[in-house]
Amino acid sequence: MPHPVTDDPEYDLAVIGAGPAGLAGAVAAAELGLSVALLDASSQPGGQFYRHPAPALGATRPEALHHDWATFTALRRRLADSTATLLAGHHVWTVVRAEARDLWDVHAVTGADGDRDRPVRVRARAVLLATGAYERHLPFPGWTVPGVVGAGGAQAMLKSGLVLPGLRASPAGARPGAGARVVVAGSGPLLLAVAATLAAAGARVPAVVEASGYLGYARHPRTLAANPHKVAEAARHGAALLRHGVRLRTRSAVTRVHGSDRVEAVTVSRLDRDWRPVRGSGRRIACDALAVGFGLVPQLDLATGLGCATRRARDGSHLLDLDAQQETSVPGIWAAGETGGIGGVELALTEGELAGRAIAARLGGRAAAGGSGRGRALRRRRARMRAFAAVMAAVHAPGAGWSRWLDDTTDVCRCEEVGAGRIREAATAFGARDARTVKLLTRAGMGWCQGRMCGTAVACLAAEGREQGPPPAPERRPLAVPVRLDALAALTGTAASDPGEPEEHAAGEDSTGG
Ligand SMILES: Cc1cc2nc3c(=O)[nH]c(=O)nc-3n(C[C@H](O)[C@H](O)[C@H](O)COP(=O)(O)OP(=O)(O)OC[C@H]3O[C@@H](n4cnc5c(N)ncnc54)[C@H](O)[C@@H]3O)c2cc1C
Repeated sequence: MPHPVTDDPEYDLAVIGAGPAGLAGAVAAAELGLSVALLDASSQPGGQFYRHPAPALGATRPEALHHDWATFTALRRRLADSTATLLAGHHVWTVVRAEARDLWDVHAVTGADGDRDRPVRVRARAVLLATGAYERHLPFPGWTVPGVVGAGGAQAMLKSGLVLPGLRASPAGARPGAGARVVVAGSGPLLLAVAATLAAAGARVPAVVEASGYLGYARHPRTLAANPHKVAEAARHGAALLRHGVRLRTRSAVTRVHGSDRVEAVTVSRLDRDWRPVRGSGRRIACDALAVGFGLVPQLDLATGLGCATRRARDGSHLLDLDAQQETSVPGIWAAGETGGIGGVELALTEGELAGRAIAARLGGRAAAGGSGRGRALRRRRARMRAFAAVMAAVHAPGAGWSRWLDDTTDVCRCEEVGAGRIREAATAFGARDARTVKLLTRAGMGWCQGRMCGTAVACLAAEGREQGPPPAPERRPLAVPVRLDALAALTGTAASDPGEPEEHAAGEDSTGG
């Protein structure tokens, strides 16, 4: 029997995502008088940055792994003191326009998995998408060996589960995974934060392997000068790595993992400017685990399902195209945080507050929030940090030569076990030119993760050797998270209408000029 859909009361604003951006947006809007529902798939608020252990783990100092815990506790207190309703454990799978009135229906299922799943519909006059980002992965031989984890994933394991990757049976009383050797690799500033946190928690980090260099930042002295907190953060991580004796290798990548049942070692190769491995440069490093990630990609499934316009970042990823008030191209749908570009926690907090204030002004029939002193200060801060985010995306943009790390047998789609050779064949022999066509021919991207692990790699391989043309628009998937059939069946008679034609007018353009 399908569970009936539970209708929550109608709200002024539904905020999807309780990370820094969503929390800041929900609190700002609620304090300005809006009724707010804040939905998040996780069982507790905080998102990626403020991820913390579940109470059942009994952590006595959850703040120990954070350097900005006070901001989070202040936000959490303001949320609790406000009228906003936190709907934790709500996985939103679609947002559609409600029939008849100027409202949005947010559809979610509750519970982790299985029997407890219950369909819920939240109605609201406006929606703020604060769904964050996920890690960009690039495959290489051995990346599916147990012990290879995402760099952000390693951070998440530690922050929420208090465990380190490379876990071996620990002596009684020892911290799980303490003493394990973890190589941290990929590209982007997150690697430094991850390595510093792992080392502080007791892992040994033989090396941080960065595919780009850091000199690209030096070409933008004014942007650096305008963002001293970012420079200070990098210096803090650098000092921590020095203290723990961690070696930093730039313009290098892990091009092979050794071991079959578990990671035993990695090969690190030097890269040329296009990220092609330099022949004969491979060096083997013994380790128990590899934490690897190539930056972050905005989580846009709900937004593209609604037809929100996107643009391209300098690293090739799709971002939401937002106006000065954080509104998307679909009136009534707003966005904040990593959905509009990868820029870090301070930018997410700033955009969240700006969006919350702008929505309160719009629904209250007042002029846009940017006119007030606080609004102007927030907009100046946003401009400063967005400039830094653009530099960061350019410095760490994946070079086209990364695909030289692959051999034809390397699984690119690990859910469906589709190798690089089959994807290249789909492109060269059958004319596939984008990830969607490759998926139809090979099943790559059709598995449980819905292309989140392999999407970037499949799109790059499909485009290899193609004449330069406009890059394909981001994929539209009608379901943002897995939904059971009985949840869909329960919608009969509710307002789950078709979202209409997409408005992805700007896909392929970079309105930042890159
Ligand atoms: C794995 C990972 C680890 C990271 N670790 C760090 C770190 O250690 N240090 C650092 O400076 N930065 C880290 N970042 C970057 C970090 O994401 C940002 O700096 C900051 O958290 C962005 O805030 P946000 O609110 O935009 O998104 P997030 O913090 O990512 O919050 C988004 C929230 O939306 C929820 N959500 C998404 N989709 C749905 C849906 N369909 N239904 C319901 N809820 C949904 C998620 O559960 C999440 O709580 C990490 C990123 C990732 C992906």
